[in-house]
Amino acid sequence: MDEAHDYDQESVVLHEKLHGKLSVASRVPLESRRDLSLAYTPGVAQVCLEIAKDPQRVHTLTLKHNTVAVVSDGSAILGIGNLGAAAAIPVMEGKAVLFKEFANVDAFPICLATQKTDEIIAAVRAIAPVFGGINLEDISSPRCFEVEDALKDIGIPVFHDDQHGTAVVVLAALLNAVRYTRKDLSTCRVVFNGSGASALACARLLIVCGERGLLPKLGDLILVDSKGIVHKNRTDLHAHKRELAEAGNVEGRTGTLSDAMVGADVFIGLSTGNLVTAQMIHAMNKDPIVFPMANPTPEIMPDLALAAGAAIVGTGRSDFPNQINNVLAFPGIFRGALDAGAITINDEMKIEAARALAAYVKEVGVEKILPDPLDRKVAYHVAEAVAAAARRTGVCRT
Ligand code: NAP
Ligand code: MG
Repeated sequence: MDEAHDYDQESVVLHEKLHGKLSVASRVPLESRRDLSLAYTPGVAQVCLEIAKDPQRVHTLTLKHNTVAVVSDGSAILGIGNLGAAAAIPVMEGKAVLFKEFANVDAFPICLATQKTDEIIAAVRAIAPVFGGINLEDISSPRCFEVEDALKDIGIPVFHDDQHGTAVVVLAALLNAVRYTRKDLSTCRVVFNGSGASALACARLLIVCGERGLLPKLGDLILVDSKGIVHKNRTDLHAHKRELAEAGNVEGRTGTLSDAMVGADVFIGLSTGNLVTAQMIHAMNKDPIVFPMANPTPEIMPDLALAAGAAIVGTGRSDFPNQINNVLAFPGIFRGALDAGAITINDEMKIEAARALAAYVKEVGVEKILPDPLDRKVAYHVAEAVAAAARRTGVCRT
């Protein structure tokens, strides 16, 4: 942490002073009666009729072209837990600020007073007409998978950032870490500790890359959850874990995290703090890549991991080098999807976003595997790659 900063109290003071972080701004002049007649009635009636006649016109005549709903039920806020809708607002407002600042996307916080899966799905469907995209946020696993799946057909991109934003930045970080350590993915064992929303999405994206020949097929991929290695003979797995159980685990291994770490090349922690020991890092293969990303306390602190032999360490925190932060991904991904008129955000778009992020770093170093999260050009660079992938894969409105 910077000096002995008390960000917590300072943040409360800031929010209290501003009464939140967002406001709505008008884009039309309202100086004369004529202005009034164009922006509102009577003129606006014709605009309504145009849309009624040709529903596609909503994309060019309204704010829909640039507006994203950041939707949460408050069930899994940051790493804090289930605090409900009202307590989720500061995070969703913050997310909207990042959308605006980094990619000029107008995002709006929508915090729902329900945690019932079918009610969340119905609410998103009902508000969709106003928005060009839906960023699902901080909805607990495994409900988050069901919510996203049920919204695939609404005609605008629906993207659960805790899953896919994380998968994109982790893939980008991994590409550069592998570049730096000169590891060959086809002989790498990747161990995920945690098999929740983020880890399952990361694992799935890595597997898809291998299947489509975009990256070498991983040598081995092992998922671990609170009960140990996720394998197909376990009877306690929900469908999404089951789908990935042993999808990449070539040796059909069972056991604990310690067992999985012996000879591993890459550790990706998306679980909770302080679960990894120096001994586990010692037991990994030469030049291990270690991404302990649990927030706010990583699975192992970076200094400990480095002292235990890690070649590269990245965490979710801004007070250590190599911050693997979703803000590098979601603003550019939605910018690209909106610019291309995409109706979905598919795997190709995510993979191209990751590649663009990785390629943005010209000189990869031990403390430099990702772009600076404050670099304002990153999102536009990502957006171009995402829009091109959307057009190439034919998922844009005609
Ligand atoms: P989640 O869906 O709740 O998943 C948490 C996972 O951790 C579950 O699979 C859980 O196991 C597992 N877990 C808990 N205790 C464990 C233990 N002792 N050993 C092994 N696994 C254990 O949460 P999520 O959204 O994926 O996020 C997970 C963590 O990653 C959070 O700390 C979050 O802040 C962090 N994260 C960071 C970033 C970032 O920095 N960019 C992005 C996304 C997530 P069970 O399935 O058995 O319950
Ligand atoms: Mg989140």
